[in-house]
Amino acid sequence: MNPVAAGQLRPATPCSRPVNWAATGRFGGVSAEPFRSMNLSTTVGDVQHAVMENQARAVQLVGVQDYRVLDARHGAQVDFVSDGGIAAGCDGMVTTTPGLALMVLAADCVPVVLADPAHGVIAVAHCGWRGLVAGIIDATIECMRANGADRIQAITGPAICVDCYPVQDDCIAQLQAGLSDQIFGSIIKVTQDRSFVDVRAGVQAQLGSHGVQSSSIARCTYKDPSLFSYRRTHQTGRQAMVIAI
Ligand SMILES: [Zn+2]
Repeated sequence: MNPVAAGQLRPATPCSRPVNWAATGRFGGVSAEPFRSMNLSTTVGDVQHAVMENQARAVQLVGVQDYRVLDARHGAQVDFVSDGGIAAGCDGMVTTTPGLALMVLAADCVPVVLADPAHGVIAVAHCGWRGLVAGIIDATIECMRANGADRIQAITGPAICVDCYPVQDDCIAQLQAGLSDQIFGSIIKVTQDRSFVDVRAGVQAQLGSHGVQSSSIARCTYKDPSLFSYRRTHQTGRQAMVIAI
């Protein structure tokens, strides 16, 4: 299958291994409608063996076989992991194990891959507007640093863009209460009768507040038919970002 994007994060000194990452899209897998075809979630109603085949294809993109999938809960729990399987009830995972891919699923929320290649520490995180308030980005960076990371790089994946993401007043109120004025002001767009949130900009601002440089795959899940979008189609699949040392 062809990834939406893929690349390597390299350490400043060439003594350690590069970190491979990739972002999958909607196509290149074996699932049938409404999950056609590269759905990577086992919890949306798709056929299990199809999802397993798709997950195997996704981790091949980063050159490994063993992997752990993040099962997002819109909270701020981060698990340190060292073997494969489902990571229940967390929105961030960190590992230092070579050959173990981390996979984060999303379909509008922001998937993030992070790495300090020089120290061999990698992570994934899943962040929607609730994650911005809960502090999942802060918690992921703290866990990486506790396990030896120093200079962290990050890439934010395909997500719903601000123009396609109108939200209710209670969401705005929680964001205002939970974020700094500066970050809140930079991610809210207000028109005559609606408010919109730029979650990806929020993730990048929170990364930046820790000195983490990030780049982004600036594609909108809602508008791009080659990506899954929960807002566009409630019963749908999930794409992923994967990363491995
Ligand atoms: Zn959009």
